[in-house]
Amino acid sequence: MRSLIPFLTLFKYAKFPLILGVILMILGLAASIGLLTLSGWFLAATAIAGAGTLFNFFYPSSAVRGLAIGRTVARYFEKIVTHDATFRILSKLRVQVFGKIIPLSPAVLNRYRNSDLLNRLVADVDTLDSLYLRLIAPFVSAIFVIVLITVGLSFINLPVALFIGITLLVLLLVIPTVFYKLGTKFGKKLTLSRATYRSQFVEFIQAQAELLLFNAEDKIKQNLANTESEWQAYQQRETNLAGLSSAILLFANGLILAVTLWAAAHIDLGTGEYKAALLALFAFSALAAFEILMPIGAAFLHIGQVIASADRVTEIISQPPLVKFSGKQTALSATADLIRLKDVSFSYPERTSCALNGLSLTIRKGQKVAVLGKTGSGKSTLLQLLVRNYNPSQGEILLAEQPIHAYSEQCLRENICFLTQRVHTFSDTLRNNLQIANKTKIDDLKMREVLVQVGLAKLLEQKSGLDLWLGEGGRPLSGGEQRRLGLARILLNESPILLLDEPTEGLDRETERRILRLLMQHSANKTLIMVTHRLTAIEQFDQICVIDDTNLVEKGSYQELNSKNNGFFKKLVERI
Ligand code: ATP
Ligand code: MG
Repeated sequence: MRSLIPFLTLFKYAKFPLILGVILMILGLAASIGLLTLSGWFLAATAIAGAGTLFNFFYPSSAVRGLAIGRTVARYFEKIVTHDATFRILSKLRVQVFGKIIPLSPAVLNRYRNSDLLNRLVADVDTLDSLYLRLIAPFVSAIFVIVLITVGLSFINLPVALFIGITLLVLLLVIPTVFYKLGTKFGKKLTLSRATYRSQFVEFIQAQAELLLFNAEDKIKQNLANTESEWQAYQQRETNLAGLSSAILLFANGLILAVTLWAAAHIDLGTGEYKAALLALFAFSALAAFEILMPIGAAFLHIGQVIASADRVTEIISQPPLVKFSGKQTALSATADLIRLKDVSFSYPERTSCALNGLSLTIRKGQKVAVLGKTGSGKSTLLQLLVRNYNPSQGEILLAEQPIHAYSEQCLRENICFLTQRVHTFSDTLRNNLQIANKTKIDDLKMREVLVQVGLAKLLEQKSGLDLWLGEGGRPLSGGEQRRLGLARILLNESPILLLDEPTEGLDRETERRILRLLMQHSANKTLIMVTHRLTAIEQFDQICVIDDTNLVEKGSYQELNSKNNGFFKKLVERI
């Protein structure tokens, strides 16, 4: 239950509608019970009066009509107000969760599956809507209405009123407690099996091509079917228990009605006109009062799932980000040494092996630096540290002579442009995929020009032009096209520092030469650090760094390294 407290505090954002919702719920329930009770009394009284007697039926019948209209109006507005309040709170919650998730990227989020994160943000947050709609609001209004009925009936006969009031209150406390206990037993499992099913299903769809090719579809389908039947079994248990709670309440209703009738038959109702009809009033209020209790038993059964969802959301939002951007510097000062790494070592979290070991390097403003090395040697890791996706485990990185953590995140992002090894293509139009490269609006002409430059003119030949839909994750694009889309983003970006992770990987030699020429032109006045496996145009770089098995083993100009007999670079040149 404690895990619900952070979500309850969100209620402060919609205090007024939440209270109004409860008031409307009370009015609706009171009108509903009043209607049944009054109609019962009215029918009994007219029966007693019989035909031909003078009986004032105007007041009761207009009250019946008034209550019927009142009930409808109250219910209508109650639904609007309570749902509106709930959705407001959920939207706040979703924004809050999203705000907490973003700084966790990429280091902490790597631990979660994408589909699982989506499930927490959507399904688990949705489950929390029951907290107010199905649990708190009905429970609070039930207490009010039971007190109201008891006070109302006590004017006629106190002992019978107390009997009805107390039994209703006892049921209101006992039934939810029992069903809450029963519900928590499998609520968590139900939530987890639902989440697992969704994750498995999303992955099943995403991995269709691989599954078919490796003929592995049946096994995954079987897993999916097992999870589904587990989920259905929990749902069945929930439905059975919900049915049981309705059955118990209906039985209790009948019992209380019989006892009330028996008790009311024995009380002295006085001898006034139509006093005997008051008997019906008691009986009908006992009958109607169950309208308050009916939804509550099943709702409390649901609380286990609400708690499990709250726990899953809390688990994500309580993760501390690995990198905190608390620096205040908003601009880089003009210094000759732009980037300096001092004895930097790094291991990825939850990995014992080192990914970079005691790396020292100085990059001057405007320099073009190539980083070479075997696969897995730590080249991409170096770039990850320069954009502060991770902090070094040891050593220090200076940017314009200031520790890199002294800069605000915005300043870092504005000054450093990073082309990652795997280019992400958004499921969006060509235009929107390019627009992310720049904060200011890029005009269509510029976009077209750059697309032609990187050799993507073919995409523009389509009828839709820049509005071409690139499909789910850019799948319809070839690997080389995705890479060149990434390069187009680089050319549209104006940051003074460029970090490129294998920008020409997968491109043919001719295209590679053209792209490198473009990149050199674009970065004429910028600082460039490029990770590459290729040696095309390598002599144009001012500094070449060779990383081997986490160590920076060689650095220097092309001439220096090329003249070093038996050097790593020299051997690499000879091999390639
Ligand atoms: P390639 O040329 O294949 O791109 P690389 O030199 O860029 O290789 P890195 O990506 O820097 O290599 O990886 C260095 C080591 O760190 C590898 O052993 C890799 O498995 C590990 N590694 C990389 N990313 C992560 C991560 N997010 N979590 C844990 N380990 C990682
Ligand atoms: Mg790499």
